[in-house]
This record gives sequence, structure tokens and C-alpha cells, in this order.
Amino acid sequence: MTFSDFDLHEPCVKALAEQSIITPTPVQSEAIPMVLTGKDLIAVAQTGTGKTLAFTLPSVKRIVDNPRKGTRILILVPTRELCVQVHRVVEGMADAANLTTALIYGGVGYEKQTKALRKGAHIAIATPGRLLDHIDQNNANFKNLSALILDEADRMLDMGFFPDVKDIITHLPKDRQTLMFSATFQDAVARLASNMMHNPEKIVIGTIAKPVDAVTQKLYPVLPERKLRLIDEILSEAQPESCMIFLRTKVRTEQLTEMLKNKGWKVAQIHGDRSQGQRQQALDGFRTGKYRILVATDVAARGIDIDGVSHVINYDIPDNPDDYIHRIGRTARANTTGDAYTLVSPGEFQALGAIERTLGHAIPREERPDSPRVISVFKPEGKKGTRGRRVRSMHRRRR
Ligand code: AMP
Repeated sequence: MTFSDFDLHEPCVKALAEQSIITPTPVQSEAIPMVLTGKDLIAVAQTGTGKTLAFTLPSVKRIVDNPRKGTRILILVPTRELCVQVHRVVEGMADAANLTTALIYGGVGYEKQTKALRKGAHIAIATPGRLLDHIDQNNANFKNLSALILDEADRMLDMGFFPDVKDIITHLPKDRQTLMFSATFQDAVARLASNMMHNPEKIVIGTIAKPVDAVTQKLYPVLPERKLRLIDEILSEAQPESCMIFLRTKVRTEQLTEMLKNKGWKVAQIHGDRSQGQRQQALDGFRTGKYRILVATDVAARGIDIDGVSHVINYDIPDNPDDYIHRIGRTARANTTGDAYTLVSPGEFQALGAIERTLGHAIPREERPDSPRVISVFKPEGKKGTRGRRVRSMHRRRR
């Protein structure tokens, strides 16, 4: 099957072919025909599955076939970075279809955004807070809105954006199409969906909240004070082409960045205290290969799409399984493979247990002579391996 098999806007299909994007991914094959019918849709799909084109291609076709004034497609996303990333994909399709776009997020001036909205940009990609500011200032015209798309709905929930989303919806026409994309489908997400959608179709791609199989995962048990040394060892051994390292706090992100710089690594960082310009510069430098390592906090790194990330390292284990899955989803995107390494210290075993329970298996251990013994609540049923490994490591320590 190719994109030409669907009733899509021909110039968009051609533009994709020029980027060698010819065969639809599973979420695209399932979502495109449904969205073309105008039905509401909930798609549970992991990050990196091609979600953006899955909603953009059919939505663009629908508005090209039925041209009207004002903003026709509104895409709500949780973070500025995701806004920029979604825009990058949408822009290509918009250009091919002679449509205009507006990029709406906080932390930057209003003028350019106001102009784009007032001119009636056909497609707006927005974070909820800033969009509400523009709605308050009467800058946006959604009278003829064709489709509302919520991207990464679960993260919008986590970040407390649902009240803003509900507020925005009161300013949109009722006869619109609504599409919701989410990596997980928690109760609160389901409730929001039932309040704002009409008999949605639902598709689930792959297993819910499971990482792509192409990621090779490893667990490095380590004492907290040895983490710095271990990460230097891991990087020296792996010599990653491009590596994202995740930490829990901004301060730790700053510290690790400094330390890696001192060791001679080409490293950039993104976290909440960096300005939009600094973050973009870091991302651009990472994308182009100027920096081989990008050190990041979860929130800052959410939804960032960088092709060809070879390694993801969890310097701090994430507090919840969803974050783990999102982090390791940064690698092995769009049919490549990747490695995800997680450092875990004795104070973090509870978080590890939750992650392993969600995964349904223990993460293979990569032990060093000074590794502490891992105690994970996860007990694999009828599976070989973890217990064996644990017993072996206990024996090793007794020797
Ligand atoms: P997304 O899940 O939308 O963030 O997409 C992840 C990456 O996959 C993006 O860089 C897309 O350009 C790429 N991509 C999307 N669809 C396809 C496809 N059908 N074939 C190859 N690459 C794709």
C-alpha cells in the first residue's frame, strides 16, 4: 500500500514522495480513511509512529475540497517543542497545498502570531495557554473550523492543560470534526473524549503504552555517587552517534552538562529555565550533529522528534512508567533501531518496579563489579532470566 491508494491531496503525496515517504505506517493506514469520512477519532499510538501525518494528510484534503475563510484546522499540543516539531511536518503539507499556518506558543512575542491568526491562517498549531490569550484578544476566527486535533492528549492532562482545552472548545463550532491522539488512554483522557467527541471511532496501534520493540533496553545498577563515572564509561564504550540523556531536575541537568563538557563531549542541554532561543539552538545543533549529546528534563524533551537518535540514557530513572516509555520512544523512531540505557540506584528501585510491571518484563541487567544488588518488586511469571540474573549477582557480591 502507498499514500497514492488513499483519496489524498495529490501535491501532498508528491511532496512526501520527494522525501521518500511512500508507504503509510500502521497508524496512517488506519486513521487516514477514517478521518477522510469526517468521523471523530481517538487514536492510541506511541510516539514516533507517524501520528502527525496521520491527522494532517486527511484533514488537509478535507479543507482543500471545501475551501472557506478563517482557521480550518486547529492542532493543540502540550509543549512549545512539540508545536515546532508538528509544524515542521505540517508546513511541508501546507506548502504543497497552498495553505498558510500559524505557530502559537508562549515565551515569545505576540505580534507575529497575532498577524498570522488575523490573516486567517488555515492551520493553527498551538499550546493551550497562549491560544486562550489570543482568543481573549479576538485574534482568532474559528467560525469555519473543520477539525480540532488534540495531540499527545495524555501529556496535556499530565501538564494540567485540560481546563484550558475545555475553555478553548467553548469557542469552537459544534459541528467540527475532533481527533484525539494519545500514547496512553487514562480515565481522565477518556472522560474528556466523551465530553467533546461524537461517537468517536477508536484505533489502537500496537500495545498500549509499550515501547517500540526495536529499542534494546539495558539496566545499569549503580550507586548514586558513581553515576557520573559510569555515564562517562558508557558513553566511551558506546560512542553514540546521537544520544539523549534524561534527568529529573534542571539543576542536575546543568551539572551533568558541565561535567560532560569538561570531559570533552559535544553536549547541549534543554530544560525549563532555558529560553526559547537557547532551546531551539540546542535542538538545531543536536539535529545537525554539532552536538552528539543532548541532556534534557522530561518536560522540555517531551515530543521532540529527532530522527536517528541512536541512544537514550536515563541518568535518573523516571518517576512513572509513562515517562519511561516516552523517553525511550525518542530512539528507534520510524523504522530504525536504538538503545535505551537506564541507570538505577538503590533509592530508585520502587520506580523501577513500576516500570518493569508496566513493561511486563524485567529490563536486562548490565552489571559492573561495583554494581549494587537490584531489588525490583517485579516477579516475572514463568519467565526465565531475571531471577537467575538476580541470584547470580547476589553470589557475585558474596564472593
Ligand atoms: P511522528 O510520530 O508523527 O512524530 O513521526 C515520526 C517521524 O516519522 C517523523 O520524522 C516523520 O517524518 C516520519 N514518518 C512519518 N510517516 C512516515 C512514513 N510513512 N514513512 C517514513 N517516515 C515517516
